[in-house]
Amino acid sequence: MQTVYLDNNATSAIAPEVREAMLPYFSEYYGNPSSMYSFGGVVGKKVAEAREQVAALFHAEPSEILFTSCGSESDNTAIWSAVMTQPEKRHIVTSCVEHPAILNVLEYWEQQGLRVTRLPVDERGRIDLETYASSLTPDTALVSVMFANNETGNLFPIARMAEMAKEKGILFHTDAVQAAGKIDIDVTRLPIDMLSVSGHKLHAPKGIGVLYIRKGLIFRPFLRGGHQERGRRAGTENVPYIVGLGVAAQLAAEGIGKEETQVAALRDRLEAGLLQRIPQSRVNGDPDHRLPNTTNISFKNVEGEAILLMLDRCGICASSGSACTSGSLEPSHVLRAMQVPFNYAHGSVRLSLSRYTTEADIDYVLKEFPPVIATLRKLSPFKD
Ligand code: PLP
Repeated sequence: MQTVYLDNNATSAIAPEVREAMLPYFSEYYGNPSSMYSFGGVVGKKVAEAREQVAALFHAEPSEILFTSCGSESDNTAIWSAVMTQPEKRHIVTSCVEHPAILNVLEYWEQQGLRVTRLPVDERGRIDLETYASSLTPDTALVSVMFANNETGNLFPIARMAEMAKEKGILFHTDAVQAAGKIDIDVTRLPIDMLSVSGHKLHAPKGIGVLYIRKGLIFRPFLRGGHQERGRRAGTENVPYIVGLGVAAQLAAEGIGKEETQVAALRDRLEAGLLQRIPQSRVNGDPDHRLPNTTNISFKNVEGEAILLMLDRCGICASSGSACTSGSLEPSHVLRAMQVPFNYAHGSVRLSLSRYTTEADIDYVLKEFPPVIATLRKLSPFKD
């Protein structure tokens, strides 16, 4: 049976070029990049090269790139630094559709006495800029709003939102874990202060991340100890993974055009094909402002988990819009925030493509998917 992997927003395949580049740094080049002798110096130079490759993906300077262990660490670090460097400010603005790497961290800070405003979204998952403007106060330390949503692929108006924060002297962080490598992000044209990235969403391994920190920003480290990363994060560098992320960033920079045309065309064919073949189906999100690789579709009167199990039997990997909390399948916080009707929200599936997705993959899914829904609807206790 073939495997069709359409869950690239969960994690992505390590690119062969990335794996090849990493291997020598697990074996012959094991020196410490901070060592004085050339055995370590060679490794240090490779880390510097990777930093340049990552910086280039965002049109940033290498000194603005901080390597972390994952997207979650980058998010934690950004919030920590913003809070610690501005103790007089006690308010943070975010959206209600962020990843738990933001939402749960802000819940922690709320317990520490900070106020958090979670901006609502409309039925397409969009933030209203007037509501946003009125949420910004002289007491606001940070705005943290994601570049793109992991479930729907929705892109938020980050340039405008960052500008509005800047006008009021408020720091702006964006979780760009899903957007990085899929669309062009140019920090020279975005007035953002910090931006989070995760390697495993762009064909590098799991366990490596980046926090972009704008030059001149007053920063407080989250992880203290040694003086690595120019004193901004302690811990001997994860050299093989950093090297891998550098190559992944370079490949992503070269492939951005392809993401926006080829991957988007496959996604559109998949989406249109499913909507056409399956009655009572609808797209969740904002089709006009979306990542090129993501679609989130709801099928009325079926259970998302059941869809996934049946797709799995056909070798199709996807993700549902439900979270199993206390034994009951609740629609995700994102779909709930968008007020997707109950009988649709339960049957939501996220399909996320990559540059490795082929026309044949899409043909296969278009053949196998409709009978899955038809079978489940016959069994469903919910009828019109
Ligand atoms: N932020 C977003 C939007 C994500 O989608 C994810 C992972 O799914 C993360 C943060 C966390 O990244 P990591 O798994 O590298 O910690």
